[in-house]
Amino acid sequence: RSREFAGKTVLITGAGKGIGHATALLMAARGARVIAASRTEADLVALKRGIGCETLCVDLADAHEAREAARRAQPVDLLVNNAGTVELQPFLDTTVDAFDSTMAVNVRAALIVAQECARNMIARGTGGAIVNVSSISAQIGLPLHASYCASKAALDGLTRVMAVELGEHGIRVNAINPVVTLTPMAVKAWSDPDKAAPMRARIPLRRFAEPDEVARTIAYLLGEDASMINGVSFAVDGGFLAG
Ligand code: NDP
Repeated sequence: RSREFAGKTVLITGAGKGIGHATALLMAARGARVIAASRTEADLVALKRGIGCETLCVDLADAHEAREAARRAQPVDLLVNNAGTVELQPFLDTTVDAFDSTMAVNVRAALIVAQECARNMIARGTGGAIVNVSSISAQIGLPLHASYCASKAALDGLTRVMAVELGEHGIRVNAINPVVTLTPMAVKAWSDPDKAAPMRARIPLRRFAEPDEVARTIAYLLGEDASMINGVSFAVDGGFLAG
C-alpha cells in the first residue's frame, strides 16, 4: 500500500498538531498530495519543511474564512475534517460563548469545508471520500464536556446526512470516534492522573490511542479498501464503547 494515494489530493484540517499532523505524515508517505489547513503558522511551516505539503493558515471558527480557505484548496479528492477544540466546563457553568465557539469549529467548519469540497467533486464527477473526526464523546456523556459531546454527536448526525445525500455522486462520508488519544488536546483534558487512570481502566485494551493508530484508520476509510463503507461512526477506542 506504499503509494496507495498517488495522484490524489487530500485536504486535512487541524494538520498542525496531534491526529491531523499524524494523518498528514501518513497520507504523504502513502503518496498523496497533502494540503494542510491549520491555525498556527509555525506548525504549518514545520510541516511543510517535513513533507513538502501545501498549507492554508486559517481560523476555522470564522465561517467566512473557513469557506474561503476551502475554496482555495480545490480541487481535492479526499477531505479529513479533523480540526477540533475542547473547553472543559461543568454543565451548569457552560457558557454560550464556549458552546458557540465549540460548535463553530467542531461542526460548522466541517459542514462548510465539506460543502466546498463536495461541490467541486460533483462538478468534476470524480467521486471522493470524506472522514469527519468525531469522538467517543458523540455517544457517551463525559463530565465537563457538555459543549464537546453536543458538537461530536452533531458531527455524527451531519456525517449520516452527508452520506445519504452524497452517495449517489460516489462520495463516501464516514466519521471516526477515537477514545482518548495522546495529543496536545489530551494533555488539556486528561493530564490529571486521577482522571486518566479510571478512564484508562474503562478501555479493554487498557491504554490510550496513539495519533498514528487514528491516522491509519482515517487512511483506511479514505482508501479503496473501504469502498463500500459509507455513513458509519467507526470507533477507534480499544473496545471502550463495547463495554
Ligand atoms: P490538538 O488540539 O492536539 O490539535 C488540533 C489541531 O486543530 C491543531 O493543529 C489546531 O491548531 C487545529 N485547530 C483547532 N482549532 C482550529 C481553528 N479554529 N482553526 C484552524 N485550526 C484549528 O487535537 P487532537 O489532535 O487531539 O484532535 C484532533 C481531532 O480529534 C479533534 O476533532 C478532536 O476533537 C478529536 N479527538 C481527539 C481525541 C483526543 O483524545 N485527543 C479523542 C477523540 C477525538 P492550533 O493548535 O493552532 O489551534
